Amino acid sequence: MSQPSAAAPAPKWAIVVHGGAGVIERGGLKPEQEAAYRAALGRAAEAGAAVLRREGSALDAIETAIGLLEDDPLFNAGRGAVFTADGRNELDASLMEGRAMRAGAVAGVTRTRHPISLARAVMERSPHVFLIGEGADAFAATQHLEQVDPAWFFTERRWRSLEKALTAGGLPIPPRPAGAALTPDPAAALAHDEGKHGTVGVVALDRHGDVAAGTSTGGTTAKRWGRVGDSPIIGAGTYASNRSCAVSATGTGEYFIRLTVAREICALVEYKGLSLQAAVDQVVQQELTAMGGDGGVIAVAPDGQMAWSFNTSGMYRARLSDAQPLVVGLYKDDP
Ligand code: ASP
Repeated sequence: MSQPSAAAPAPKWAIVVHGGAGVIERGGLKPEQEAAYRAALGRAAEAGAAVLRREGSALDAIETAIGLLEDDPLFNAGRGAVFTADGRNELDASLMEGRAMRAGAVAGVTRTRHPISLARAVMERSPHVFLIGEGADAFAATQHLEQVDPAWFFTERRWRSLEKALTAGGLPIPPRPAGAALTPDPAAALAHDEGKHGTVGVVALDRHGDVAAGTSTGGTTAKRWGRVGDSPIIGAGTYASNRSCAVSATGTGEYFIRLTVAREICALVEYKGLSLQAAVDQVVQQELTAMGGDGGVIAVAPDGQMAWSFNTSGMYRARLSDAQPLVVGLYKDDP
């Protein structure tokens, strides 16, 4: 994708959003589905940009944008998250800021409406970096973060995907969660089955020159045994340093963890002096692809470079800065 040209002034703020990568192909989505995704991505980018325009922090922009996507049933994060093989929604999220390199992460959360806000609370209001499961939800309650009945996260479309995955794997189908809506949500009905992905992530540069990154997900459909992917792992799914860049990833987490994708990209920028686009392309198109992994990343650097790269047929994505208008893409050949 294009970076700011040498002649253009460096952006003072910038934001890049993803809503997951996967099988996203022209002709695979109905026009109303495509319009719903484009609108949701644009809304999230604009909401984050509104924070950055009024000199808000990259962290605030990310929490705002991801919060919207977590509530949107189109995406595999918060409401609309995929189900575990047991028929539960277990949510993972992480957040990191590039100035002091503080970070917060949670995994296996089941009651906190906005896992990204919980990751931020872990970073800012606990002595820890990573909390899991019931303990993480208990901490959320002490921080007065909104707690919901787990049925809040339920969508019919994700339940059907679970049934399909379990049937294909010869596994039993669990009972529907108590309180699960019987009538499909009309907004969720527009969701597209992009395969196993749909995580959301946002990276931002603010007017203070600080970068940050955040990622939120339900993980992978029919996950078992407490499986956790890359999204809440600092250095794999999320990383930020003002010395290099901020990255959020999406894809089959097992590969992203082994390659420490987010940190690897920042290391190439920091130690090898690669441009941001060259660094994301090297890790995604070469290292990830060579390993057999699939997915993509978004990134932003303190000098305003924005980049994305994915080796799937598409990735839901948007970018916006004070120097460039909103660009929303779904398919490989979108700008
Ligand atoms: N990376 C996520 C995970 O492995 C899934 C995704 O991005 O869709 O849990």
